[in-house]
Amino acid sequence: MSISTALTLFSNTTVSSQNQARVKIRSNSIALQNVRNLVRTVGVSSISSSPVESLQKGNWVKLICGASFEDVVDIRNLSLVYTLAGVDCIDCAAEASVVSAVNEGIEAAIEISSLPRPWVMISVNDDEDLHFRKAEFDPEDCPADCSRPCQTVCPANAISLQDRNSTSQISFGANSQVGFEGGVLTERCYGCGRCFPICPYDKINVVTYIRDANATAELIKRDDVDALEIHTSARQTSPFKQLWDGLQDSIRHLRLVAVSVAPTLFVQVLKCFEAPPVLSTIIEGLICRFRVMGPPTFYYQVVSLPDIGEATITSMNSMYSIMEPHLHCLNLWQLDGRPMSGDIGRGATRASIAFALRLAAAQGRPNGFLQLAGGTNAHTVDGLTKVGLFRTSSSSKNSRDEKLKVGSSNPPNASIAGVAYGGYARKIVGRVLSTMQSHHSAVCIEEHPEHLLQALREALALVGTVKCYDPSPFLLQ
Ligand code: SF4
Ligand code: SF4
Repeated sequence: MSISTALTLFSNTTVSSQNQARVKIRSNSIALQNVRNLVRTVGVSSISSSPVESLQKGNWVKLICGASFEDVVDIRNLSLVYTLAGVDCIDCAAEASVVSAVNEGIEAAIEISSLPRPWVMISVNDDEDLHFRKAEFDPEDCPADCSRPCQTVCPANAISLQDRNSTSQISFGANSQVGFEGGVLTERCYGCGRCFPICPYDKINVVTYIRDANATAELIKRDDVDALEIHTSARQTSPFKQLWDGLQDSIRHLRLVAVSVAPTLFVQVLKCFEAPPVLSTIIEGLICRFRVMGPPTFYYQVVSLPDIGEATITSMNSMYSIMEPHLHCLNLWQLDGRPMSGDIGRGATRASIAFALRLAAAQGRPNGFLQLAGGTNAHTVDGLTKVGLFRTSSSSKNSRDEKLKVGSSNPPNASIAGVAYGGYARKIVGRVLSTMQSHHSAVCIEEHPEHLLQALREALALVGTVKCYDPSPFLLQ
């Protein structure tokens, strides 16, 4: 069975059971009153605006569920929490079941507290890309005495391993050397790559894939998809043109097309630490890790740093000229500073801001909003403010003017149109979801308002850095 078939079967099954279990929220539910009160006192509804106005003002916020993350239960709950927190867009995998889960979360949030509906964006790739891959290994092939560092390092709880001996009737003898049970939970793996170099026995394979253009076009034609994001290496434009042509007239259904570009490669050794005694070199797109035999034995982690040269701007202009004849909506450039690293810390956001700073200052770049991603976290707005790229304010005129012309997208009051949060946003709310799921078998977070309230405080603290919410209501509780 192919990965995509397996994922679809899993997702359909989960959504079906989720629908059966769904609890209709009554508007007078007292248990959810604290959630409504928090949304109101923080000022989410008074500050929120249409996604277009947010782009113009520079306080657009996008939640990235992950181009390969397909756990529909978590995606539904993340969408609910972040809609309540006031995001403008929710970006997800281009799978029908995932899009349905996002929309279900949005509808549940709007039922709790009347808020503007965020746009739903689907992410696709035109070629091999870090965001479109999965880890895979055979747990039976793992040495029984392995300390399972892969499981520890995974930020998505996507590796589940049980000792065969602990579940087997036979605990001793020859059978005690067999491997583990479990393995990679495919729907939760989003391809971050952290487990690949950590395995001392090189057991983990990388499975890459490219989203099909025809299937994407059909998904776009649904009335619950508003935006498309294309991940591209920008090294060559022929795969980009092939994908764009394959989408055909589905483009006219969109309100926004985003193109995600990463910085050109400029490597620097950032850190080193002890490594297992195995020699290997793994290239993970822009991130390389080398294990070198000792003595002493070290890992050398070599990561890319932003380096905007003429080639990037030339590629962006080429892609824009491919899109322009059929681009009847807004366009945005997602600056993927340090892909899938936002939950690491301040260092990750520095690389992301440096990339944005160089691109914002570049001459001759094509039309389109600029939005940060890749390495974004709680430190990002602080960093953007220091370099003068974040200039929005909390004032809202509630403009509903969605007739912004293509090509008139760079507003004078915001050098950066907004910020997208992925791994970090999922981590802070994911902790609450994990706790809830460990105590209850429930799949809908609104069934447990105390958990929803806690998750919402986390989401508000992050989204509020961009939206300039009053932090006192959720910091004091
Ligand atoms: S690639 Fe990342 S998300 Fe996937 S299993 Fe490995 S560590 Fe977990
Ligand atoms: S680290 Fe490697 S050998 Fe150990 S359990 Fe994970 S995949 Fe298997």
